[in-house]
Amino acid sequence: MEYVSPEGLRLDGRRPMEMRQIRAEIGAVSRADGSAIFEMGNTKVVAAVYGPREVQNRSQQMSDQALIRCEYSMANFSTGDRKRKPKGDRRSTEISLVIRQTMEACIMTHLMPRSQIDIYVQVLQADGGTRSACINAATLALADAGIPMRDLVTSCSAGYLNSIPLLDLNYVEDSAGGPDVTVGILPKLDKVTLLQMDSKLPIDILENVVQLATEGCKAVANYIREILLENTKQLEYRRGV
Ligand code: UDP
Repeated sequence: MEYVSPEGLRLDGRRPMEMRQIRAEIGAVSRADGSAIFEMGNTKVVAAVYGPREVQNRSQQMSDQALIRCEYSMANFSTGDRKRKPKGDRRSTEISLVIRQTMEACIMTHLMPRSQIDIYVQVLQADGGTRSACINAATLALADAGIPMRDLVTSCSAGYLNSIPLLDLNYVEDSAGGPDVTVGILPKLDKVTLLQMDSKLPIDILENVVQLATEGCKAVANYIREILLENTKQLEYRRGV
């Protein structure tokens, strides 16, 4: 199948290096200490953060740092095509672990010893790249909860189909069987905190694809900074500062 037309357009009309439209909203779950919705095209996720709070299971309490927990799940209605278990399956367990490790890289856990931070991320609509969208939503939710962070973590994926690197794969492109590279970065510190790939790729092309995904991460970071700034301005306005 042809994933890029002779005119250089993808199935959804994007250029190879073009990201899907991103949109974010802070404070979607009022009950949580911090929350956000993040959309990348038709992929839509919600993140809710609780904490820092008392550690529920005392045996897991750490005297020098906070315990970070993360739970990824997919809503039953999030996907029309392939329906697997929304939660508790191997994929969800793996993605929960990946997101937890990625977020741990930016949270200043040593400032909150003997406490626990819970990050819940749920996919409301799945169209490829849900782990990236969840990381971006979690970053916003953590910032909304006022959790001290070294930097913002942002994530984006890129793939390689018809010998062309493609940014931010949607489900149809993702399920084409080509390589799918997910990158997470700390943009200000200029560090990579997540790098995952399925399938195979020649090493020189891998560099191009990782570079493309990194550019996507940077674009997400710029957008997230704008949203946070806008949110702070609104809070100040409401407080009458
Ligand atoms: N997907 C699905 N049902 C499932 C698991 C995945 O429809 O049970 C779709 C969904 O659109 C997801 C895509 O397959 O975004 C790719 O899944 P993958 O495991 O590669 O993770 P993701 O790209 O979402 O991070």
